[in-house]
Amino acid sequence: MAATAGFAGGWAARGVSDQPSADVAVPTAAVASASPALGTKGCPKPRAITSIKSNERVVALTFDDGPSAEVTGQILRTLADKKVKATFFMTGEHASAHPDLVAQIAAAGHAIGSHSWNHPRLDKLSPAQVTDQVERATNAVSAAAGTRVCLARPPFGLTTPQVDALSAAMGLTTVGWTQNPKDWLNPTPEQLRHDSAPWSDRPATILLLHEHGAEDPQQVGPSATAAALPGIIDDYLAQGYRFVQVTGEPFGSGRPSL
Ligand SMILES: [Zn+2]
Repeated sequence: MAATAGFAGGWAARGVSDQPSADVAVPTAAVASASPALGTKGCPKPRAITSIKSNERVVALTFDDGPSAEVTGQILRTLADKKVKATFFMTGEHASAHPDLVAQIAAAGHAIGSHSWNHPRLDKLSPAQVTDQVERATNAVSAAAGTRVCLARPPFGLTTPQVDALSAAMGLTTVGWTQNPKDWLNPTPEQLRHDSAPWSDRPATILLLHEHGAEDPQQVGPSATAAALPGIIDDYLAQGYRFVQVTGEPFGSGRPSL
């Protein structure tokens, strides 16, 4: 994988070799301003998680494209009220604009991943461009969260073996989804709740949600998602589901990326 070796550095060297941060070149100002604890702990071995092989009723709620000044607070309050931990995949651009919200998400115990710098199709980019997008985003999100980010979701879920490998070289496990209720088409909260309900034939679920209701992922703002979330959670609880994060079991069975 020559392309991967050519871009080893920063998080990449750390993710692959677990070297202490003092031995690793720091690529951006965002990382330089992060907490001292940042990067002192390596990530688990990178994987590509696209499905869950489990018959257990578990669901991982995932929220993409934030954080959002209009929506994140409401989502966090609902998750706290329901005592549910979720996973947030944030763009570097939005995380840099709202580091306080990233810190709130981290402080509440939710899992955090990066979602590229500004949401291009990674499958259309050169290896150098992919690395730039993923590394800048991961550094920015990590800096704002005050902890090393070990998860990433490619924009639009569009990945390639090369994107997976480049991400893995940065220590990142890539995460897909199993259920997409298309909240970005701005449905009514009632429609979104209906489309998010558990599927009886596929008990283990990674549910894709967003912090906006627009087709343009650059937009953040009011959407059906925050309004529908309490009902979505209630529907899963009513069917005996357990809420999990993609960092925990049963997601440990993803195929190796390297
Ligand atoms: Zn997205």
